Amino acid sequence: MRIGHGYDAHRFEPGRPLILGGVTIPFDRGLAAHSDGDAVIHALCDAMLGAAALGDIGNHFPDSDARLRNIDSRILLRRVMDLLRENGLKVGNADVTIVAQVPKLAAHIPAMRAHLAGDMNVDPGCISVKATTTEKMGFTGREEGIAVHAVVLLEPRR
Ligand code: MG
Repeated sequence: MRIGHGYDAHRFEPGRPLILGGVTIPFDRGLAAHSDGDAVIHALCDAMLGAAALGDIGNHFPDSDARLRNIDSRILLRRVMDLLRENGLKVGNADVTIVAQVPKLAAHIPAMRAHLAGDMNVDPGCISVKATTTEKMGFTGREEGIAVHAVVLLEPRR
């Protein structure tokens, strides 16, 4: 088994959709990014690339690449799954923690898990997504943006 950790943080920006775990969440701000800003998928991809020792999301999908502008991060997630497959690896389970003071995310978590599990070709029972605040402390607490941590376990494909 191989373990990996991923972390991502993005700043809020008005006038963009807020997309987390492939789900568009009704809110007055989105996340500033070259891609669609889906920090959940970015942290998850980095955890999987880390577990496989295959670099990071910035190596594979550089923000200098104009073709990736506003790209749906689910496309990046599926490309990372292809890389794992090519390297003889599959996902055992993943655990994601979203750190956000706003908006409230609990109602959207089942849809995030379903989207992620679908793209990763695993049972939703293998994908955990949790959300927490920081009790108004720090940059997430000041509502400047959202941070995401992800841990993933990879197993050899048989
Ligand atoms: Mg990111």
